[in-house]
Amino acid sequence: MDPDEFREFGKASVDYIANYFKDLRKLPVISSVEPGYLSASLPELPPRKGEKWQKVFTDVDKMILPGLTHWHSPHFHAYFPTANSYPGIVGELMLSGLGCLSKDWESNPACVELEVRVMDWLCKMLGLPEEFLNESDGPGGGVIQNAASESTLVGLLCGRQRSVKTILTKNPHLTPEEIRGKLVAYTSKESNSSVEKASLLASVPMRLLPTDNQCRLRGSTLREAVEKDKAAGLIPCCVVASLGTTGTCAIDELEELGIVCRENNIWLHVDAAYAGAALVCPEYRHLMKGVEYTDSFNFNPHKWFLTNSDCSAMWFKNTKDAEEAFKVKSLIEQEPQYEYEIEHWQIPNCRRFRALKLWFVLRIYGVQGIQKHIRHHVGLAKYFEKLVRSDDRYEVLISCLGVVCFRLKGEDQLTQRLLDRIAERKKLFIMPYYIQSKLVIRFVICSRLTEKEDIDYAWNEILSLTPVAKKELTS
Ligand code: PLP
Repeated sequence: MDPDEFREFGKASVDYIANYFKDLRKLPVISSVEPGYLSASLPELPPRKGEKWQKVFTDVDKMILPGLTHWHSPHFHAYFPTANSYPGIVGELMLSGLGCLSKDWESNPACVELEVRVMDWLCKMLGLPEEFLNESDGPGGGVIQNAASESTLVGLLCGRQRSVKTILTKNPHLTPEEIRGKLVAYTSKESNSSVEKASLLASVPMRLLPTDNQCRLRGSTLREAVEKDKAAGLIPCCVVASLGTTGTCAIDELEELGIVCRENNIWLHVDAAYAGAALVCPEYRHLMKGVEYTDSFNFNPHKWFLTNSDCSAMWFKNTKDAEEAFKVKSLIEQEPQYEYEIEHWQIPNCRRFRALKLWFVLRIYGVQGIQKHIRHHVGLAKYFEKLVRSDDRYEVLISCLGVVCFRLKGEDQLTQRLLDRIAERKKLFIMPYYIQSKLVIRFVICSRLTEKEDIDYAWNEILSLTPVAKKELTS
């Protein structure tokens, strides 16, 4: 493909995407294809000779589109928002086009310096502790990781290493292996499954602790677990707290957890993958009360912050802890070329130029534009909650930011029947969840395109499918 053809192909793709967003509301949010629909029409071998891009392009409409779940449809209310915006899309295109990676500063000065600066912008936008700033006098700093899962793993590995180092200093007769064998970490049973995965990867057992009736992890529960483990000769090294769990957007009691962590020299990592975005609005900053206790903090601009995937922001109170965990011996002696060695605060060797798309989003939306987006979504969730509460057949169990968990009063079967009908009709995409063993419908405001009319549409769809009497369960 030559540059002129690339120009045509690229322009056609941009037109395609613009039309896709224009017509998205009309497309069915969930596809109706059967398993294997695509494999049946794809050849078993790749083409021997290259094909024209126009031909491949036509197949997107013919073969791919019918099997897509439209995550940006205004009728998509499942999982969590997946960020998408025009500045984010173009940013992603530009960073792919420029195609450069970075390691240390010398490998790509613009990539590293932009990342350092936009992470400081973000930190200030969210009102996070100044200790996290790259530009602060202390050892704090921030870096863009690929996913919240990776940030949690990084936090856990840092906590593991800090504990090993502290115990070794006090007990030089022990070996790191002996200490590692005794480490233990904690999170709530409501945490994202990536937290448990991090424990598998780091070989540190993770206690999944019970929560209160609002699905929050409390300090007293943590304290009890830590004391029990210490009495058994184990070494608590890390707590992963959620600022917005995946199920219900529950906010763990950071301050209570932080006090226990500080008393026991436990690393506190905060997973704010979704809800962290709301901190851009000062009125939601009370949710992070106790954040000053955290050693590492993460949120995903690629969830609710208009920045296309992948982009996960992570800050450390002390980046030396990360360097201690990740800086390999052969590099320790090298003189750093730049004061921020962000390449040692992550797992991969090289980084994509994600800072570029984040910079596009931050500059083109501005702080006010992003606040408007968050407030709009929270307003839509509140509106939906009001509709649910206005019908006394329903109850709202938990509502936080853009997430509303509700159910039909009475036996779970009623809610299950409703969920089955919604799934059969495919007009909305919503998901079930269990709160304290009760089945609920988890309704999330996801798409940037969702408006009040879409909430009315969703509620009318739900109402029209609501089982009217217990008798209906058996019909
Ligand atoms: N943490 C929370 C609270 C989440 O909701 C999710 C995903 O929804 C994750 C972590 C995992 O995010 P990622 O896909 O960026 O690893």
